[in-house]
Amino acid sequence: MSSSPREPDDLPPFVAFASRHSAVIFFVLMLAVASFEGVALFAAKRRDARSAAAAPVQAADAVYRNARVWTGDSAQPAAEALVLRDGRLLYVGSSDSAARYVGPNTVVLDLEGRRVVPGFIDAHWHLSTTSSADLNGAGSVTEIASRLAAWAVGRSRDAWIVGRGWTATDFPDRQPHRRHLDALYADRPVLLTDRDGHQVVVNSAALRAANITRATPDPDGGRIVRDADGSPTGVLQESAASLVRRLVPPPTRADVARRIDALSRDAAALGITMVQEMSGRVPRGDVFDALREAAAADTLRLRWYVSVPFNPEVADSVLRQYVSLTDSLRGPWLRFWVAKGMLDGTVDARTAAMLSPYAGTTDQGLPFMTDAALRRGVQRYDSAGLQVALHAIGDRAIRQALDAFEAARRTNGVRDTRHRIEHVEVPDPRDVPRFRTLGVVASTQALFATPDVTTLQNYAPLLGPERAARSNHFKQFDDAGVVQAFGSDHPVFPMHVMRGIHVAVNRTTVEGTPRGGWYPEGRIALDAALHHFTRDAAYAAFLDGQVGILRTGMLADFVVLDRDPFAMPTDSLFTVQVERTVVGGRTSYLRGATVGASPAGRPTRPR
Ligand SMILES: [Zn+2]
Repeated sequence: MSSSPREPDDLPPFVAFASRHSAVIFFVLMLAVASFEGVALFAAKRRDARSAAAAPVQAADAVYRNARVWTGDSAQPAAEALVLRDGRLLYVGSSDSAARYVGPNTVVLDLEGRRVVPGFIDAHWHLSTTSSADLNGAGSVTEIASRLAAWAVGRSRDAWIVGRGWTATDFPDRQPHRRHLDALYADRPVLLTDRDGHQVVVNSAALRAANITRATPDPDGGRIVRDADGSPTGVLQESAASLVRRLVPPPTRADVARRIDALSRDAAALGITMVQEMSGRVPRGDVFDALREAAAADTLRLRWYVSVPFNPEVADSVLRQYVSLTDSLRGPWLRFWVAKGMLDGTVDARTAAMLSPYAGTTDQGLPFMTDAALRRGVQRYDSAGLQVALHAIGDRAIRQALDAFEAARRTNGVRDTRHRIEHVEVPDPRDVPRFRTLGVVASTQALFATPDVTTLQNYAPLLGPERAARSNHFKQFDDAGVVQAFGSDHPVFPMHVMRGIHVAVNRTTVEGTPRGGWYPEGRIALDAALHHFTRDAAYAAFLDGQVGILRTGMLADFVVLDRDPFAMPTDSLFTVQVERTVVGGRTSYLRGATVGASPAGRPTRPR
């Protein structure tokens, strides 16, 4: 059972609209104003009105009819038609009733029985601003070499070689080492980030450029992995990675704007209508500027919920700036309300903070903050009214986060804070019910449960069977009535929503392995998985009441699928493709068509 979002009570001003009562009142007012306009228009056009008998209805911008709509709304779970006006849903119901809204300029589309669902919301996503060779699934050093060579074509010969997406299983003996890269590039610096983004492997040229030697101490919150003789292997974990990463030339402003557009197109093609950008960037510079400009020019193809850093030692003046930023970034396309912090690393890098050691080791991972610092920090952000999202993967880090949220509640009182724990991969079973008690959102990633070679040969053995059995176990949160928001953690995993749903429902790879699913008791039903990618992800960003379900008055964000996931075997869910994506009434993706070629780059209206 999936919990339904709770009624928000004490909300900051812009969020107040998200409360259902306010939404209803707003909508009634809107209807009143709208029908007044409708009456005026009607009267103007027909001064010689012959009959006042027919109740005037507003003409729609578009009517999508003859669809099978899964609304996600428990009050009206199914519908045939969506009627759109000014970017919102004017009516959700039967095709017959929708016909009343067709005026001379209304675009009418017959969806021929296609399945329609609310727009997908990716609750944990990163804008990767730097171009890099895609190393996902490489499988060997030879394959890594050929992908790097292909990426380097056309780049200057002294420039950095940058790649992303390796896992330990790509290297002999699962030991990434600079010697593998030195054999490829002796003089050009190479920086390869792992799939999870928590460690890099660099070559000797990069170590030289960063002046890292056997004498260099580990930085706070990081680890320089070393050979037996103490010399660096080239693997740099957590904060140690930035010793080299900061030397890579940053992208230009134009690069960033291009990346935003390119990634938005990719997302729209997968049915995504909103991303929650969880990088916790300082809110100045190219990314924020580019997003602000695009929002002002009305050229965004997705809705964005952006984050700032969570830093327990943040100056009061900076915290006040963040709070005032919530006033300026509160539009329907670009919003800010959340601070993102990191409490640990990942299981694969053995940096996730655990209550007991990784199997066969004495290593319990790498906590990034002391309990005292974290509590103080959460208390300050909470008191400022900001939402806090904490990356916590190991059971120790997850407990630390919950304890800090609980302490803030004691100090600051119970409010609708919707604090979140990101990833929350291996919670201790005793901590799962605390999410509901404390009103904390479990922000999980459906594709993290993919039983691929890394999961089976590195992740699971490191945890041991007891902890592996309850890792990325989405059912446990649903059973406990916790709000669970799904995301991809792109670019760690692809932002492919239907593949994520496939894994959540089957717990197999797309090839169907292992048969019957990996720890199948963690599987969830299709409608639960859809809710987590829509309604629950909207809740996690204070946008329930605006997006996430298809109901009259809500923003018109929805997806037309090529086949009906409810009418097919679950083992082929990953094959379902998106035919059309609509955000705020505009088509942001249409299969087989180039959308957004207008001079302003603005997604076109439905055709
Ligand atoms: Zn992330």
